[in-house]
Formats: sequence, structure tokens, C-alpha cells
Amino acid sequence: MQKRDILIVGQGLAGSLLALELEKRKKNVMIIDNNPSVSSSKVAAGLYNPITGRKMAKTWLADELFPNLSKSYQDLEKKIRAKFNFSKTIYRPFNNVEEQNDWSLRTTELGHTSYIKLTVNYPTGIDQLIDPLGGFFINYFGMIDVPKLISEGKKYFKIKDMYTEQSVLLETLEVGEAHVKLGSFEADMIIFCEGPLAENNPLWSDLKFKLVKGEILDVSCLLKMNHVISKGIFMLPFKDYMRVGYTYDKENQNDEPTETGKLELLNRLSKLYKGKVKILKHRAGLRPAIFDRKPFIGFHDKYKNVTIFNGFGSKGVSLIPYFAMNLADHICFGKKMYSEVNPVR
Ligand SMILES: Cc1cc2nc3c(=O)[nH]c(=O)nc-3n(C[C@H](O)[C@H](O)[C@H](O)COP(=O)(O)OP(=O)(O)OC[C@H]3O[C@@H](n4cnc5c(N)ncnc54)[C@H](O)[C@@H]3O)c2cc1C
Repeated sequence: MQKRDILIVGQGLAGSLLALELEKRKKNVMIIDNNPSVSSSKVAAGLYNPITGRKMAKTWLADELFPNLSKSYQDLEKKIRAKFNFSKTIYRPFNNVEEQNDWSLRTTELGHTSYIKLTVNYPTGIDQLIDPLGGFFINYFGMIDVPKLISEGKKYFKIKDMYTEQSVLLETLEVGEAHVKLGSFEADMIIFCEGPLAENNPLWSDLKFKLVKGEILDVSCLLKMNHVISKGIFMLPFKDYMRVGYTYDKENQNDEPTETGKLELLNRLSKLYKGKVKILKHRAGLRPAIFDRKPFIGFHDKYKNVTIFNGFGSKGVSLIPYFAMNLADHICFGKKMYSEVNPVR
């Protein structure tokens, strides 16, 4: 029997970042993952953006999350010796004259000022882009190549003897007063970071997940630029192509790309960009979203050594680093946890 301090189920973005935070605090961790070809993290576009949605509102906890976000990923890059963090500027064209008129008032009212880099009230002249009223550029925006973080993270964990590839079957889990046993491992605690698959886990059957399917395209086009453009849809320059996304589908709970999803993306793209595009790749995945859009982080109501770290929805890239630190500090030093994310709520 191999003894560890903590077992982590799942090596998506959540399990990876949490394992690194616990390792930093000297915990002996083993991650168990079934290495699927598709997972939420493996299809994610990886954007982090403090101002989102039709209302151009600051996202939940933006002031806590964003100022240190890029630095926390840079530190991870040094640790696992891989490049996956790309600072970008995002350009958000105005939809209509009302939006343009309201914008300067709203930035002051909503405390947005530090997030706005520049506002322009005229077209930028970016080739074939549809932005007759101009728009605004946002600070603290960037992109994480999540699949690369996962694959390079896995190499790091393997070297450190922190990773094993298998499916965790709950029938083989034994939970005692002060320990858990799973196959050949024994530990003080187990933390489930299963992403959307947590819906099938009977330990968490009381928790209300609300998974949201997303589809995403990689296209080639003539547009060459460094900015990400976002207006109902985003165009993200990446490597030598453009990533275009995403859809939000609450009905279909699977990771199959569909003709409907593709047409929706192309239709929305045509309202932003006039040029021709050629589809290179079309992928889909499920987001581990929750009914009230706040993650589930904390302890099982019956077993104090069974924990969940999940439910990061469409904002995993910005939420996971902050909450991985919060949970690791709680486990290792008894620091207070953020109460709004308690799974029993
Ligand atoms: C199309 C799309 C685009 C997205 N774009 C963005 C974006 O731009 N920005 C952003 O912030 N977020 C984005 N997201 C959301 C983001 O991907 C998620 O918030 C994040 O990846 C969730 O990570 P996770 O580790 O919780 O889950 P996952 O990535 O699903 O990882 C869970 C892992 O656990 C494994 N696992 C589960 N159960 C078991 C078991 N019993 N035994 C062994 N292994 C198990 C799974 O196979 C998987 O490897 C997007 C999601 C989708 C679908």
C-alpha cells in the first residue's frame, strides 16, 4: 500500500493547479486521472477576461482575481518549464450607438476604469472587421493554452511521482475516520476534481450541476492581428490560425461537434468579420457549470476527509488559481475558506 497525504481525482486544470499548490505546501500528493481525449480543459479556449457579457459588467471577484492572475501563471510556467501564458489585448467593438453613448458613464459608475486601456469612437481600420462605432480595449486580459498546461503538467507530475493513469471506481474507495483507501493508495484525504464527470459520482449526487456544452472552431483567414476581438463571439489569433468561439448549449449533454453549432458560430462571425474563412478544426466539450454560477469547493457533509474542487463553469482559467490557493491554505494552515463556494448551500 502506498501512503500519500492527499489523493486528487482528475488532472484537468482544477486538479493540476490544486496539486501544484499542495505540493508547494509540502504535501505528498498523488493525482489519478483517466486521460480522456476530450475534457473541458482539453477543448478550452483559455481566455481570461474581467469585463464580460452583453452588459459589459465586471465578472464575479474581478478585483481579487485579475491583478495577480498573469503573474500566477508565469510562476507556474517557471515551475513546470513550459510556455502557456499569452498576454493579449482584447478589443470589444460597440454594438450600437446607445452602447457607445453609455460607455464612458458606465465605466465610472461600475468602477471599470482600471480595466479599460483605451476607448475609440471610430472604426479601427482593422482589415475586414465590422466596427463602425469603434469600441474599447481591455487590460488584464490574456489566454492560457490549457491543453499545453495539462500535457506539460502531466510530464512534471510523472517525474515527481505524482501521477497515475486509471479510472477511479467508487466501489473501490474506502472512507475511514482519518484515512481513505483507493486501490493501492492510502491517504489522509481525497479531493475530487472530476469536472463535468462529477455529475455521475454518487458521493456528490445532492449537488446541482448545470453542465453547458460549448463548440469552438479553428479557422484560417487573411486577418493578421495580435488582439483578440470579441462581440457576441471572439476571434483569437493563435499559432498560425484563428480560434472562434463559443456556443452555450444547455440541452445537449455531450461532447460531439454539431452542424447546428458550426452554423451558429459562422453566422455570428459574419457579423464581426467580412473576410472568408476556412474551417480547420471543430471541437466541443462540456463546461462544469453550477446552478448559481459559483464553484463547489469544500467538504462532503458526511465524510470530513472527502472534498470537492469543481464547478468552475466557463471561467476556470480565472477562478481556479485563486481558489486552489484558498483551498490549499485551508487544508494546510487552517485558513478561512471563501464561504460562498461551500458545496452545502
Ligand atoms: C468549448 C469550451 C471552451 C471553454 N473556454 C474557456 C475559456 O476561454 N476560459 C475559461 O476560463 N474557461 C473556459 N472553458 C471552461 C474550462 O475549460 C473549465 O472551467 C475547466 O477546464 C474545468 O477544469 P476541470 O479540471 O474542473 O475539469 P476537466 O478539464 O474536465 O478535468 C477533469 C479531469 O478529471 C478526469 N476524471 C473525472 N472523473 C474521473 C475518474 N472517476 N477517474 C479518473 N479521472 C477522472 C477527467 O477525465 C478529466 O481529465 C471552456 C470550456 C469549454 C467546453
